[in-house]
Amino acid sequence: MGIEGKVALITGAGQGIGRAIALRLASDGADIAIVDVNGDKAEAVADEVRSRGSKAISIVADVTARDQVRAAVDQADEELGSFDIIVNNAGIAQVNPIADVTPDEVSRILAVNVEGVLWGIQVAAAKFKALGHGGKIINASSIAGHEGFAMLGVYSATKFAVRALTQAAAKEFASDGITVNAYCPGVVGTDMWVTIDERFAELTGAPRGATFEKFVGGIALGRAQTPDDVAAFVSYLAGPDSDYMTGQAGLIDGGLVFR
Ligand code: NAD
Repeated sequence: MGIEGKVALITGAGQGIGRAIALRLASDGADIAIVDVNGDKAEAVADEVRSRGSKAISIVADVTARDQVRAAVDQADEELGSFDIIVNNAGIAQVNPIADVTPDEVSRILAVNVEGVLWGIQVAAAKFKALGHGGKIINASSIAGHEGFAMLGVYSATKFAVRALTQAAAKEFASDGITVNAYCPGVVGTDMWVTIDERFAELTGAPRGATFEKFVGGIALGRAQTPDDVAAFVSYLAGPDSDYMTGQAGLIDGGLVFR
């Protein structure tokens, strides 16, 4: 028994890791609500899910706005007939040395990476309780949630914060049958890393691609991570095999940060 017939909502699922999670949970048997600020991309992923035989809807929502997250969860329940799993995946990167970070940058990344996850947790837990059943809350942290990386100091702080919210929420909602866990990817070849690599190039003079290769060079398993590598772990966190696990932020990074 897996997650057949369950409904999963994934934020930031218009591309990258979120897209891979949507496709994986669909192949595990769930129906999927794809949430993104980019409606065209979200709908394209919904089409991919439908072409594989699962139900899917796309929803435009900005995770920084609690009302929009709540409306997305309500829509998933109304149109897909249930709501059982939320993956708070949406996030942004920011590369800047601590000496140069500006207040606007900090506000923006806190809003998306921390508040976005907080609203997702809050709204999902309230909905699970209203529906009279438990559920799974799964949050995007990072290797940068276990170690602060140079030039990624504020990003790292947001991902540490996701671990804090994951632990506190796990304790607060355990008695409601709700588990809360996080996944901590390493170096995944998505658009986010293209941006990170370009920004490192600007700041350090490193050639394009060199920063990505340098990080990948530190991975014990010897290759960059794929979105599917992350999605496989999220599949475990979404399914019944992880029912006895809560409050954890598991590293899935090919052997890069060891804790
Ligand atoms: P990505 O940039 O490729 O995709 C992010 C998606 O989120 C996009 O579709 C974007 O439109 C959407 N999004 C951004 N802001 C949003 C908002 N306010 N509301 C709704 N949607 C929004 O990123 P990715 O590499 O797929 O990363 C996904 C998650 O995994 C992020 O939380 C990221 O921090 C985390 N992560 C990524 C890596 C990596 O190496 N790529 C490593 C560790 C953790």
